[in-house]
Amino acid sequence: MKKLGALLFEAIKSLFKKPVTSDYPKKRRPIHDSVAGMIAFEQDKCIGCSICVRNCPANAIKITKVPDKEKVFSCELSLANCIFCSQCVFTCPKKALHTTDKFELAQIDKSKLTVKLEEVAPYKPETQQKPDENKTEKVNS
Ligand code: SF4
Ligand code: SF4
Repeated sequence: MKKLGALLFEAIKSLFKKPVTSDYPKKRRPIHDSVAGMIAFEQDKCIGCSICVRNCPANAIKITKVPDKEKVFSCELSLANCIFCSQCVFTCPKKALHTTDKFELAQIDKSKLTVKLEEVAPYKPETQQKPDENKTEKVNS
C-alpha cells in the first residue's frame, strides 16, 4: 500500500514537470563535439593509396581512380556498412578524410546508401566538425 502511495505521488508530480523528451526534429539538442558522423572527403588531398580501404573494419569504403583524370580519386562510402568508427580518418596519411557531425543519414531507398563522398560530402573546413548552431535549439536544460 505504501508503494502504491509513492507511485501515485510520482505520477501526480510528473503531471507538473516538463517532458524529458523533445519535439524532434523541430527541437534539437546540441550535438556534442565528439560525435562521429558521416565521413567527409578532400578529393584534392587523396593520393589513392587505399590505406583507408585496408583499415576499414566494415568494408564500407572504396577508392577508385577517376577515368581520364591524372591522379584524381573518387571515394565511395556505403552508409549501410559504415560503423562510423573513424578508423579511415585516423589512418589516412594525407588527412583527406574527416569526421563530421552529420548523423541523419537514414534512407528509404537502399540504393541511396552508397554515396560518392566528393559529391555528397566534400570537406568544408568552415562548416564541418562543429554542430550546426542554426539547427540546434536547447531543450529542457
Ligand atoms: S587513405 Fe587517404 S589518401 Fe589514401 S586513398 Fe584513402 S583517402 Fe586517399
Ligand atoms: S568510419 Fe570506420 S567503418 Fe566507416 S568507412 Fe571509415 S573505417 Fe570504415
